[in-house]
Amino acid sequence: MSLIVQKFGGSSVRDAQRIRNVAGIIAETYLEGKDVIVVLSAQGDTTDDLIEKAAEINPHASKREMDMLLSTGEQISVALCAMALEAMGLPCVSLAAWQVGIQTTSVHSDARIKKIDAERIQSELDQHRIVIVTGFQGVDRTGDVTTLGRGGSDTSAVALAAAFRADLCQIYTDVDGVYTTDPRIVPNARKLEEITYDEMLELASQGAQVLHNRSVELAKKFNVNLEVLSSLERKPGTKVKEVTKVEKTNIAGVAKDTSIARVALIGLQHNPGVAFQVFDLLSKHNINVDVILQSIGREDTKDITFTVHKKDLEESRQILEEHREALKFDHIETDEHIGKVSIVGAGLMSNCGVAAKMFEALYEAGINIQMINTSEIRVSVLLDEEDVNRAVRAIHDKFFGEM
Ligand code: ADP
Ligand code: ASP
Ligand code: MG
Repeated sequence: MSLIVQKFGGSSVRDAQRIRNVAGIIAETYLEGKDVIVVLSAQGDTTDDLIEKAAEINPHASKREMDMLLSTGEQISVALCAMALEAMGLPCVSLAAWQVGIQTTSVHSDARIKKIDAERIQSELDQHRIVIVTGFQGVDRTGDVTTLGRGGSDTSAVALAAAFRADLCQIYTDVDGVYTTDPRIVPNARKLEEITYDEMLELASQGAQVLHNRSVELAKKFNVNLEVLSSLERKPGTKVKEVTKVEKTNIAGVAKDTSIARVALIGLQHNPGVAFQVFDLLSKHNINVDVILQSIGREDTKDITFTVHKKDLEESRQILEEHREALKFDHIETDEHIGKVSIVGAGLMSNCGVAAKMFEALYEAGINIQMINTSEIRVSVLLDEEDVNRAVRAIHDKFFGEM
């Protein structure tokens, strides 16, 4: 019998009507004779609302307690969805991640799935029940609830698909597929029939929140058959796979990320080991660093500039200040009002005209570039936050035409 994992995002389970709609999709799949594992996000803006609730009580709440709180959103969704299926007379069971043994690391708010115990889910499937699991969360070695980072339900779904060797993992959302850029910013963005894991991973890592980046990483690693589609319209979505049949004549898409901040360490000594000391320190505090630029300053000093997630800015500053004597820098400068815009396409760096075309689009729009960073299949620029949406439109128009 074939097995399908179906994940529904927050807007797809926003209210009672949407939950009934989701139950309808699940029921249809089950009644075709398939085994179904469902993964749900919290309803609508529940996660944001919970974060606000926490801030009213303690703006500096520990990450452990935040995880305890945020994980409740998904529990509501799974129970309500099970009730909707029960009302349709279908056998089902809702389970929290700790009940099904989704084991993760202990990094609260950014945990990684290590292992999934197959036993409980398998026994439910053997009894022909639809299994509905909370997305976005797991349990660590000590039994504490963890969460996987914002948007992490996609990763829960792909991890379950990999663990149970599902034939297909469907990510149902509020758009009908992956587009050449966020259709909310560029209404004439084009829907992609298919996209490679590598391109999707870069787009997701560079801010295209349609898929959680780690979900794509896992899908690639375990060769999961992945599809992004709409929960509201019945039409084919976008397939994410190893190789696509479409010949690459263009970039796959444009992504933006305004959740980053820039940190500059000014006046470091120009000695071996300085970069190692700085980034080793941040990594020991689980702070991820993205774009890094080192420049030579005056009198044998150097400056190191890098970006972190906005949520990590204050902690980064504190840690670095605490180690100012050991690191021997003059001062720190930070900027929260920046953003990053990236183009992604297989084989992009083997064609230097592509980067030039991106810079031309920015030049024509009168937008200043602060930093540039590239990978094999990506070019990213750092800009003032207020220029970001305009840059996305200008670059998208340049590559895909003003349709
Ligand atoms: P869900 O709640 O279902 O997980 P998300 O809000 O996390 O949904 O992701 C879907 C959103 O991602 C879309 O509404 C869209 O605005 C945004 N998005 C960003 N980049 C893209 C893209 N390239 N293609 C499609 N959607 C994108
Ligand atoms: N509810 C979580 C969030 O809003 C996880 C998810 O939706 O994937 O980030
Ligand atoms: Mg999402």
